[in-house]
Amino acid sequence: METGIYAQMLATLDAAAEKLGLTYDDYVILRYPERELQVSVPIEMDDGSVKVFTGYRIQHSSTRGPAKGGIRFHPDVNLDEVKALAAWMTWKCAVVKIPFGGAKGGVKVDPSKLSERELSRLTRRYTAAILPIIGPERDIPAPDINTNEKIMARIMDTYSMFKGYAVPGVVTGKPVEIGGSLGRKEATGYGVAIVTEQIAGYAKLPVKGARIAVQGFGNVGATAAKFLFGSGCGIVAVSDETGGVYNENGLDIPSCLAYAEKNGSLKGYTEPGARTITNRELLTADVDILIPAAIEKQITEEIAPHVRAKIVVEAANGPTTSKADEILARRGVLVVPDILANAGGVIVSYFEWEQNLQACIWEEDKIREMEKNILERSTSDVYSLAGGKRVSMRVAAYMIALDRVVKAKKFRGIFP
Ligand code: NAD
Repeated sequence: METGIYAQMLATLDAAAEKLGLTYDDYVILRYPERELQVSVPIEMDDGSVKVFTGYRIQHSSTRGPAKGGIRFHPDVNLDEVKALAAWMTWKCAVVKIPFGGAKGGVKVDPSKLSERELSRLTRRYTAAILPIIGPERDIPAPDINTNEKIMARIMDTYSMFKGYAVPGVVTGKPVEIGGSLGRKEATGYGVAIVTEQIAGYAKLPVKGARIAVQGFGNVGATAAKFLFGSGCGIVAVSDETGGVYNENGLDIPSCLAYAEKNGSLKGYTEPGARTITNRELLTADVDILIPAAIEKQITEEIAPHVRAKIVVEAANGPTTSKADEILARRGVLVVPDILANAGGVIVSYFEWEQNLQACIWEEDKIREMEKNILERSTSDVYSLAGGKRVSMRVAAYMIALDRVVKAKKFRGIFP
């Protein structure tokens, strides 16, 4: 039986603390989120009935700066998941050394069952409910699964209406028209591509012609596929909630992107030489690199023995269960952990927040270049430490992150 994902996060944290030689007292504070808020979100439906949804905002740590993390709208959202996602944000910001702590939010809802107007009311009511604990200096939300720049715009507007003036810095991932950053929309997927290429280089796997499977064809998966396709990789399989498509000779990614954009999913997509596959078939396909970019717990202990990829790049948060992680390690599969692989999003969110606070606009080339530099330095740090200490890249990433947060905590001390 797999335990909950917060418990899995704690297990990795404890392993990293042990490798760092920390005492329990040194880091016990970080085993607990600083603040957990649960809210009821009532909305009037278009037919006049009333529905009440449950929402959360968890702030795991603000030791190194304001808490930062996305908001998810999904039927499976629950407290354990949001707590783990919030903690991962703390480690993610620390491993790439940006001055934020970690937070996450979510509403347990299937947004595909809501009209545009119902979704807007839900977003505004949820924002009002968490308003006392968010703000540019406190906690800055961003997009996650099923939330996008339109929803971020509604959050920014709701917060600004309460304040009485425009506050663009309350949220990142906004449309550029209201203070969003150039390069933010593609930042996570672009970052996944950068990290994938760097790791492939370390593993002496030529990127040109490498065979790759990508699970999840949303913001992160589709963008990563686009950039890797542009670098000459063969993306042989992609999938989403509706299933997947496989082409031995490499898929025509621009055509997949255009189809998904027009139809809202990959369902029904076909091209010469392609066949449909299930998500399970995608995860166990004969590829060099597997990129899970959908949701948690996709590579399970049942799937892991059949994974044929040499490298797994965790574009999604928590796609590998801890049992599966052990199996992959035993089988010599190199797993690039989520807190490093998908950090591109929060890096450019940081740039967006900085531009908002300074009321300025940076060029896209500058943003891409800075994101690439931070990710390459961080990937090199994690890979070297993993080799030097003979630990997995996940434990190495946690060691670097935990060391930074614990040092910051020691400087600040424990109030009072
Ligand atoms: P999204 O909603 O844009 O896309 C999610 C994709 O996953 C969709 O194609 C969906 O159909 C697919 N999917 C959902 N359940 C699936 C299943 N059971 N099997 C196969 N496919 C499934 O979300 P996103 O923003 O691309 O986020 C994807 C992952 O990346 C999440 O784990 C998220 O936490 C993580 N992430 C996102 C960002 C960001 O900037 N958006 C940043 C860091 C991490």
